[in-house]
Amino acid sequence: MVQDLLAKMLANITASQCLLVRMAQLQAEGKMTDAHAALAKAFTTAKCRETVAWARELLGGNGIAADYNVGRFFADAEALYSYEGTFQMQNLIVGKAVTGLQRLHVSGSEPAMVTTGSAETTLNSNKESEMKNPCRSL
Ligand SMILES: Cc1cc2nc3c(=O)[nH]c(=O)nc-3n(C[C@H](O)[C@H](O)[C@H](O)COP(=O)(O)OP(=O)(O)OC[C@H]3O[C@@H](n4cnc5c(N)ncnc54)[C@H](O)[C@@H]3O)c2cc1C
Repeated sequence: MVQDLLAKMLANITASQCLLVRMAQLQAEGKMTDAHAALAKAFTTAKCRETVAWARELLGGNGIAADYNVGRFFADAEALYSYEGTFQMQNLIVGKAVTGLQRLHVSGSEPAMVTTGSAETTLNSNKESEMKNPCRSL
């Protein structure tokens, strides 16, 4: 259904624009962190990918043909989603900011064993300041 696809595409674009405006506010206030940037990159590129797929759907089979721009946008969207940090890596940065737990072992750093309740979790030896939630301002 064409209007349904157009509405969903517009919602994705508008949501991404709103998130970027919020990031610009944080930057202007000097509160922008790596986790905010990771959140913005992961969200907007995922929404871009989804939106391009719906544009392809609008054109039916022609959307796959190289004769139409949307075919090229497909490749562009995949590149944006993966380079400068893949979706998964950005989400690991956000996940660490939200939970304080480092899921990736960074080579060269000594992991520390931390006991929380009955669960034993492996953490990198992060500075206390890095354990604070930089996404709180969102
Ligand atoms: C168009 C384009 C331009 C590029 N330009 C540059 C450039 O100018 N300079 C440059 O240095 N690089 C560039 N790259 C490389 C890009 O940064 C890498 O492709 C990207 O970092 C992913 O690395 P990889 O291809 O080795 O995939 P891999 O690291 O093998 O990852 C494959 C998949 O596994 C996931 N994954 C990997 N490790 C984990 C983990 N620990 N936990 C969860 N998921 C994981 C990834 O998210 C990904 O989905 C470019 C890539 C593209 C597509």
